[in-house]
Amino acid sequence: MPVYKLPDLRYDYGALEPHISGKIMELHHDKHHAGYVKGANDTLEKLDAARDARDFSKLGSLEKALAFNLSGHVLHSLFWQNLSPKAGGRPEGELAEAIDHAFGSFDVFKKQLTEVASTIMGSGWAALVWEPLAGRLLTTQIYDHQSNLAQAGVPILVLDAWEHAFYLQYQNRKTEFFEAVWSVWNWEDVAERFASVRQLDVSLEGVAR
Ligand code: MN
Repeated sequence: MPVYKLPDLRYDYGALEPHISGKIMELHHDKHHAGYVKGANDTLEKLDAARDARDFSKLGSLEKALAFNLSGHVLHSLFWQNLSPKAGGRPEGELAEAIDHAFGSFDVFKKQLTEVASTIMGSGWAALVWEPLAGRLLTTQIYDHQSNLAQAGVPILVLDAWEHAFYLQYQNRKTEFFEAVWSVWNWEDVAERFASVRQLDVSLEGVAR
């Protein structure tokens, strides 16, 4: 019985054009994201089988596969909801204030996140993350789907910087994709996530100013 499932997109494949082509969205959702969902479920089954057999000889590679595939599922699910047709613009309200507080201004934040995406060596994601110890926003460069994120951080906006996210449309001009995506950010979704993660209590007192 599979635990994880592929969520439907809340818009048509072509709804984000011309910024992200329908063909990319279709392949990205139906093939790439679906592959991570299957990978996570398959790995859970293999862990079950390993426990049943009391054979933990492959535990290291199974744990690595689970982190990779489950994180791929999480980040893609988040990415689809972070995007919306006829969106873009700028965040408002408390999210806008928190971005100004953490980065100085929206324009500096935009520049920083775009640079975070552009300077990934290999495959990864640029993310806007809530860091609950200090209670502030950070940018993060996530490698593959699961590495380089400080442990308590919760991504609220993610930008897929894997080649499969843009290559069909933008080829090697990845910075054009990282610019185009600012026309389809769903700031309402990000603001809802921000309001939610701010309630997160990690019960670690006295560890940040
Ligand atoms: Mn992807």
